[in-house]
Amino acid sequence: MTTMSWAGRTPTVAIVGSGFAGLGMAVRLKQAGVESFTILEKGAEVGGVWRDNTYPGCGGDVPSHLYSYSFEKYRSTSQRYPAQREILGYLQQVAEKYGLRRHLRLNCEVASARYDESTGTWTVATVGGERHTVDVVMFGVGQLDRPHVPDFAGREAFRGVTFHSARWDHDRDLTGRDVAVIGTGSSAAQLVPQVASQARRLYVFQRTPSWVIPKPRERFGSPTRLAFGWFPALQAAYRCGVYLAAEAVLWPVVVGGWSASPMKWVARRHLARQVPDPRLRRQLTPDYPIGCKRIVIDSSFYPALSRPNVELVTAKIARMTDTGIQTEDGLVHRVDTIVYATGFRTTEFLAPMEIVGRDGRKLREEWKDGAQAYLGMAVSHFPNLFLLHGPNTILGHNSNIFMIECQVRYVIECLRVLSNGHRGSLEVRPEAMADYQRRLDRSIRRTVWRAGCQSWYKTDAGRVTNPWPRSTVRYWWSLRQVDRAAFHTVPTRPAAANLSRSGAPPAAADAGRLLPAPDTDTPARPAHPDRSATLTRR
Ligand code: NAP
Repeated sequence: MTTMSWAGRTPTVAIVGSGFAGLGMAVRLKQAGVESFTILEKGAEVGGVWRDNTYPGCGGDVPSHLYSYSFEKYRSTSQRYPAQREILGYLQQVAEKYGLRRHLRLNCEVASARYDESTGTWTVATVGGERHTVDVVMFGVGQLDRPHVPDFAGREAFRGVTFHSARWDHDRDLTGRDVAVIGTGSSAAQLVPQVASQARRLYVFQRTPSWVIPKPRERFGSPTRLAFGWFPALQAAYRCGVYLAAEAVLWPVVVGGWSASPMKWVARRHLARQVPDPRLRRQLTPDYPIGCKRIVIDSSFYPALSRPNVELVTAKIARMTDTGIQTEDGLVHRVDTIVYATGFRTTEFLAPMEIVGRDGRKLREEWKDGAQAYLGMAVSHFPNLFLLHGPNTILGHNSNIFMIECQVRYVIECLRVLSNGHRGSLEVRPEAMADYQRRLDRSIRRTVWRAGCQSWYKTDAGRVTNPWPRSTVRYWWSLRQVDRAAFHTVPTRPAAANLSRSGAPPAAADAGRLLPAPDTDTPARPAHPDRSATLTRR
């Protein structure tokens, strides 16, 4: 293993976000000998979506054996699927065990990150006014962190209590109340059964039915528990088996492959078994290809919809009134509480942060037609900036931790490329990024996401910006080593006052140096007061 040395010191790094991506990155940086990093977290605790989503019934639908880092076992021997508080506890435990707390700045929301071409550093500014100057900035803020609340007409008129599923109001006791849940995605499927058991009346507003497949038995049977206890290696085998099964069975659904029809059959049979009422069954039957939206994995949503105190409303919402929700058929559904299970602002990557790269380029403008990044991680004109769980890297069919770990490994390798003699900042070449995007778009065209359904995978204009369109093995393969031809080093550019005698900034000519040839004639990065091995705060 090459040690990471940037001109005799380790690079300074700011990691934005402390969910699975940010913490995983931090652990691996430490293991690579880099202690000079700070994790900037806008929340009051680590955990990302697993801290924010506390709605009743919240949990994972990927078994805990797989939904965990490869370097830190989290394997329940009794429960197949982890509950939200268990996943959060696992992340907190990782933060403790790997000594990440002392790198962590909580309640520290990042407002902007700006690249300084004269020093080759990033200045990360927080909402609270702190400024951190670092060599490298990494964003691990996920895609599901900003709630989407539709702008229904008359929303302000409603006199009851409203909240989003990811901002659950635990002070609001729903016992005996009349409640509306808007949305029927994965979050709604988990919370509706819980709300239904408390509320006097529950209206579930469905715009589009989800494909729902059964969640296998949640508790392991006694033989499995005993076997896991006696032969711990079996748990590693189970992890591997779940990964392979998801890849072999769920993945082909996305490309309309062999398992699409059997999976549709499984979903239809699940519906038929759990919903005896033919009218309700018809309302819950999707008319778009399975996999176009994320498949819901759940066995308690349908039975909840059949309860006498629950009504599925399929008429379109027209407006909110002071006492409830009016649908386009003229009916007013009187409620005192509205829960928005309406998803997230998933296509506005990194918003509302302002990211300014080389030549004053703003990431928001670069991405105005939809976010894109080389391997989902690097963007041309934004040197030494890495995205974790960036564009087109999220999965609906397997563990996202697998993708994060591939990215973390790759980013560490990128940092190593810059060590041992290389100067300047690492940046993906525009042509490599364009070529990657062309190939990615070709793959996306082969998926069912292009079919007529609307989902959080797409921008309003229909561009698929969120999920990875190939197998995870393919992603792992693409990231097994850094393709040096895809990157160049960007030298520092003296500030305007230090222009060369001709008056032209020299960087334009210098930019684009090939890797791995060491840029011996590139001006060394000037010593900068902020480039100490530890972060500086101003
Ligand atoms: P979602 O899948 O985006 O679902 C949002 C729901 O709100 C959809 O039913 C949508 O209807 C509806 N909606 C949005 N705008 C609406 C409007 N203007 N009028 C009426 N209905 C509207 O969001 P989510 O359920 O929060 O799940 C998001 C993702 O989080 C999931 O796909 C999954 O990746 C993750 N998640 C995972 C788990 C887990 O078990 N691991 C649990 C929860 C969430 P349309 O379908 O018509 O757009």
